[in-house]
Amino acid sequence: MRAAVLHEIGQEKLEVLDDVEAVGFGPGKVKLRIRATGLCHSDVSAMSGILPQPAPFIPGHEGAGEVVDVGDGVSGLSAGDRVLVCWLPACGACPSCKRGQTQLCLAGFMNAGTPNFKRPGGDVFGFAGTGTFTEEVVVGAGCAVPIPDDVPFEIAALIGCGVTTGLGAAINTAKVEAGSSVAVIGCGGVGISTIQGARVQGAAQIVAVDPVASRREAALRFGATEAVAPDELADAKQRITGGEGFDYVFEVVGKSATARTAYDHTRRGGTLCVVGAGAMDDNFQVNMFELFFDEKRILPSMYGGGDVLRSYERAIALWRAGRIDLESMITHRVRLEEVNDALDQMRTGESLRTCIEL
Ligand SMILES: [Zn+2]
Ligand SMILES: [Zn+2]
Repeated sequence: MRAAVLHEIGQEKLEVLDDVEAVGFGPGKVKLRIRATGLCHSDVSAMSGILPQPAPFIPGHEGAGEVVDVGDGVSGLSAGDRVLVCWLPACGACPSCKRGQTQLCLAGFMNAGTPNFKRPGGDVFGFAGTGTFTEEVVVGAGCAVPIPDDVPFEIAALIGCGVTTGLGAAINTAKVEAGSSVAVIGCGGVGISTIQGARVQGAAQIVAVDPVASRREAALRFGATEAVAPDELADAKQRITGGEGFDYVFEVVGKSATARTAYDHTRRGGTLCVVGAGAMDDNFQVNMFELFFDEKRILPSMYGGGDVLRSYERAIALWRAGRIDLESMITHRVRLEEVNDALDQMRTGESLRTCIEL
């Protein structure tokens, strides 16, 4: 079958091959036919080595498709079911799951070190234990979450990562209050979802911050009340908050420099919510005096910061009610053979989300 493979960490281009096989099918597993997959920034970060990932590997963790085959012992799924791919499946039994924080369950990550694919040259890993830039993939049953019939595959794919991450940061983690002031630094797919979450929560002002003009324009269509380049943020803080700082600032880039900017533009007692996934050697610094004296809340948010399945359901409910716009987030559509175009569109900031149709 066809799949897009990265041979070595640090390479910029994927190679689309047709000699890849999905492996590992058996008890507790399901085989999926992927129909649509989004390109998430984490895929690019894994390719460049910012996020840890063994190679060669098949990127993609934001996917949806149909169940082809169900292993022994799997209940609640059967061939033909429409599902989205959850890259962080909940085991249901660990302390995090029992607290309802299934976004912190590590049980599924045990599979991330096991190859999901093979080809004549040897084993091939799947990113984050999934790997959706492929026609078929075998995953644990918990990674296959049934979706209602009215949710198109391309919408379901986005809910599998970017939308859940961004919406959840605003709703679950920061719990944005009605009437508050918000700034969102970084307006790709996750940042746009954060803006939509802040709007759903009733924020009065939502300032989108991004160096790319097309993303700033897009942010205004998704609920930002104004959009500025990074060097205009200090002025926006002065104008909108009287210099005090925003009630909430979301860092959706994954760099210590932008996290520090976000901290500096958060009001005393306000909330800095860190959504971006960054590198292990990039350290965020605050001094002990400001940490104490300014009482700013620093809240990281992983995969929506709450129960993952409930976050999916809420995203679907909000989409169905017309309260969030997911269709317009897909700015580009490509075939698997054009996956490198999708990577370019992400690196230049031209796309919010590129959907790869399979
Ligand atoms: Zn992602
Ligand atoms: Zn668990």
